[in-house]
Parts: sequence; C-alpha cells; structure tokens
Amino acid sequence: MRVLIVEDEARIARFLKKGLEEESYAVDVATDGSAALDWVAGASYDLILLDVMLPGLNGFEVCRILRQRGITTPILMLTARDEVDDRVTGLDAGADDYLPKPFAFKELLARLRALTRRTTAAATPETVLKLADLTLDTITHRARRGEREIELTAKEYALLEYLLRHAHRPLSRTLIRESIWGYDYYGASNVVDVYVRHLRQKLEAHGEPPLIHTVRGVGYKADEAE
Ligand code: CA
Repeated sequence: MRVLIVEDEARIARFLKKGLEEESYAVDVATDGSAALDWVAGASYDLILLDVMLPGLNGFEVCRILRQRGITTPILMLTARDEVDDRVTGLDAGADDYLPKPFAFKELLARLRALTRRTTAAATPETVLKLADLTLDTITHRARRGEREIELTAKEYALLEYLLRHAHRPLSRTLIRESIWGYDYYGASNVVDVYVRHLRQKLEAHGEPPLIHTVRGVGYKADEAE
C-alpha cells in the first residue's frame, strides 16, 4: 500500500509518515498542493491523505484538480475541528472521507483500512449490493432485508443504490441530490431528507436496525449499526 501525505506542517507530516511506515505503508510526503499534483502525476498511490490548510493551492483545490484529471485514488481529507462546512466542501470536491483534526492515530488507520477495502471491492462490479442483512439486486431492482421483500419506487431505488455503492462514507445532501435528481433540479430543497425518510420507513418496517445514518451537518451514510 502506497500513501501520499499532503501536509505542510513538518511535525505532523513526520509523525504521520513514521506511524504509517510502522504499519508497513510506503509513504511519500508533499508539503504543498502543487508538489502533491507532481507526486500523483509521477506515481500510483493507493491512498492520499490531504490536509485542507496548505500554502498555495488548498486541499479542496488539489482534490478537485485530481478528480478533474481522472484520478480515482481514495482521498481522506484532514479538516479543521468542527468546521462542518469544510467537511461538506471536501466531499463535494470529490474526497471519499474526512477526518477532523486533531485525531487519534488509531482512528486514522481505521479510516485508511476502510477506504482501501472499498477500492478492492469496487474492482469487481457487483450486481447484488449488500449491507448487513440488506440486499439490493441492481438488475431486478429488488430489495430485501433478510427474507422480507421491500417494494421501492424508482427514485427510492436510485437513492438506495447510490447510498449502498458509496457505503461507509459520508455523502453530502448536495452530492446525493445532484446524483439522483440532477444538477438542474429546482424542486423542494429537502427532497433528499424526504426520500431518506421514506426509505428508512421501508427498511425498518419490522423494527430492523437502521442502515441509513444521519451525519450531522453533512448528510447521510449507509452503514451497519453504529
Ligand atoms: Ca496544514
């Protein structure tokens, strides 16, 4: 596993590099945004750890440029604590997850493992998406929890498929709305919340544990019980 750390604060970069190398990751460090773009152009990474506050190009801009260039490497953004806007901006820029600073190293490792698991799984396109006891057949559009069959409308299906394809990662309302309803949607601004409520009612109709979780200030995340 090869990781690129993008962090201008030498002390933090050193600490992260040392810790990740001890976990047998191969690590490169870029100290600003344009150096990061150079590193990514010249090597193939399994993960990018991207700080938001950088001299020159900030982390959001770096993230956006990488995605525009077609780089799909998972990106974990390091955001300022309690800056909800930063989290949403990061996700909208194409980051896969965010970790508020300061964080425990253990938490960082857990996020990195989750992100790499996801890419390995994504390599084989699946026709049946699974999360806990929920299965969604992307060919027949049938949903089940255990043995219980769940009827979904076309939009509910699209929303559930989107959430499951991006399971374990927080998704902003804007990202969800644009993905399901399109950029030119001018209807009710709470359409995502309304549809999530419908889905939850159907998925939890028999008292099953919730699988769609609210991420405070951000949006939603499909995941097993927290
Ligand atoms: Ca920084």
